[in-house]
Amino acid sequence: MERDEWLALAEKLEAASRAGRTCRITPDTALRLAVAARARAAQPTRNELALAYCARNSRDRCAVPCTGCIGKANVADALYTGRTW
Ligand SMILES: [Zn+2]
Repeated sequence: MERDEWLALAEKLEAASRAGRTCRITPDTALRLAVAARARAAQPTRNELALAYCARNSRDRCAVPCTGCIGKANVADALYTGRTW
């Protein structure tokens, strides 16, 4: 599915949820949502991303995420989640 199709599906499900309606989806859509849910579950957290950035150069590795790595992680997290800051 293309991005616009995912967004259309999300809007349809959100609208049904807000209206208190039960959603019926096809087995094909259920499979696509299951794949998307697995991808979401595998997605690293913002702090995991920050530590991964910090670990890039192991000599200078940060014990806790530094400001620079948190900044990079915020950008990646926003891209993954569609959030803006
Ligand atoms: Zn760092």
